[in-house]
Amino acid sequence: MEKNFPYDRQQTHSLQAPPCYDNTQVYPNFNQPQPILQQPQIMQAPPNVLGGVPSMATCPSCGVWRQTKVEFEPSTKTHLLALLICMLGGIGCCCIPYCTESCQSAKHTCSSCGAYVGTYKN
Ligand SMILES: [Zn+2]
Repeated sequence: MEKNFPYDRQQTHSLQAPPCYDNTQVYPNFNQPQPILQQPQIMQAPPNVLGGVPSMATCPSCGVWRQTKVEFEPSTKTHLLALLICMLGGIGCCCIPYCTESCQSAKHTCSSCGAYVGTYKN
């Protein structure tokens, strides 16, 4: 004797509902805030603040924190200023920027080992 399952007959003849697309559930994690990774703070030497005068700075070569030596050397601004003075008629005065420290770059060197530390541009 065969058993007829009414269950099979119902399934073959019933209309299946179209699948429901619910867009709100597609990206459930899209708007979640990302965790902020905290990087460990590394203690560093204070940055060298160089001016037109000998300044306290850390030597990159020997690492000593002490006053630098300053040498003045002409920069691009010095040459431009001399050219400007020359064009204005002061040919005899065009050497003034080369003699004026404020018109030149201050080159800082280590007073301990003589290594180059940095340049302050006026
Ligand atoms: Zn040094």
